Amino acid sequence: MLFFDLDRFKHVNDSLGHAVGDELLCQIALRLTSCLRPGDTLARLGGDEFGIVLNDIDGPTDAIYVVDRLQEALSDKIEIETHTVYTTASIGIAICSDLYNTSDEIVRDADIAMYRAKNSGHATYAVFDTSMHDQAMLQHRMETDLRRALERAEFEVYYQPIIEMSSGRLQAFEALLRWQHPSRGLIMPDDFIGLVEETNLVVPIGWWVIERAANQLATWQRLFPLNPPLAMSVNVSGKLFFTDDMAKRLAVLIEDCRIPRGSLRLEITERVVMDHEDLVLSALADLRDIGVELHIDDFGTGYSSLSYLQRFKYDSLKIDRSFVSTMSQKVDSSAIVEAIIKLGSTLGMKVIAEGVETQDQLNRLRAMNCPEAQGFLFSEPLHHDAVNAFIQAGTAADTGKTL
Ligand SMILES: [Mg+2]
Repeated sequence: MLFFDLDRFKHVNDSLGHAVGDELLCQIALRLTSCLRPGDTLARLGGDEFGIVLNDIDGPTDAIYVVDRLQEALSDKIEIETHTVYTTASIGIAICSDLYNTSDEIVRDADIAMYRAKNSGHATYAVFDTSMHDQAMLQHRMETDLRRALERAEFEVYYQPIIEMSSGRLQAFEALLRWQHPSRGLIMPDDFIGLVEETNLVVPIGWWVIERAANQLATWQRLFPLNPPLAMSVNVSGKLFFTDDMAKRLAVLIEDCRIPRGSLRLEITERVVMDHEDLVLSALADLRDIGVELHIDDFGTGYSSLSYLQRFKYDSLKIDRSFVSTMSQKVDSSAIVEAIIKLGSTLGMKVIAEGVETQDQLNRLRAMNCPEAQGFLFSEPLHHDAVNAFIQAGTAADTGKTL
């Protein structure tokens, strides 16, 4: 059983219209048919999904042979009216065995394999194995749990200090989401953010973090008046970024919390900026108007194109931890870090090094005049209860103590 799903079909419908999308499906069905043998069955399952039953095959190798032929047939351009369309597909393969009782079960497993193929990059295939089913079940349970987590207030925000390198002073915090799962304990974002992004929970959870962090910042600014005032960085997903009322809702929040301009910072990745450039540029301008700073997160790991830096003046670049953590071992990493710091300084952006864990890394960053840094060497992300003590120690740095 092959489960066949076109990549980025929605993109075709959205950009060229549904009539072109429909015609594309027809042409693809014809191409698929031409690759099959008498006795094989092709069916459209819905949307851009097709199911193919291959009869009389000898295990996965034969199925993969057919899949290669299908991918090959798809690789040629398709002409529709005046448009030229290139398309690829992700294909899941499930091999029939005695373990299956119903046809639904084998379609389900081919579907699971197709998702695996899609997640490992487009235009590829995956053969189902039982670990994928276990993984899919776990994912399903996590998703159900996630939906309940907001209502049950199981999320927590932790705060990682960001330090000014020249003075050792505390400048800001990065707000980081944690999930206090009732049976699995504290879950780190890497283990559930991907799932959150796939569900529509990404918007309510994103707002919950922003509101929580902004209120917390307001409290700390009142308790610890510093000059410049403490700031707060919050990571935002592309999906949140493109909700219509984002700037308006942020403006109300900033007003309610009475946080000064420039103290709330949003971290977005290069990928978000590059994937939706026009939308981003108008959203960015609105955010700039209400005094929200914009930081590029994980800089250097997304796209190699730097042209987007010309089109909008971001406030800061955050050097990805993968460069910082290998600085001591790799000359290349060190050179990249230094180049990013110079780039930031030339373009008038601050630079923040992430993931600083050793004294050697700190010394190197100091020698390169890196303006700001965060990482375990200064502090791990802290529960809000632990932050007061940290801030008191941090403000002591004003009077000469350096980290
Ligand atoms: Mg970040």
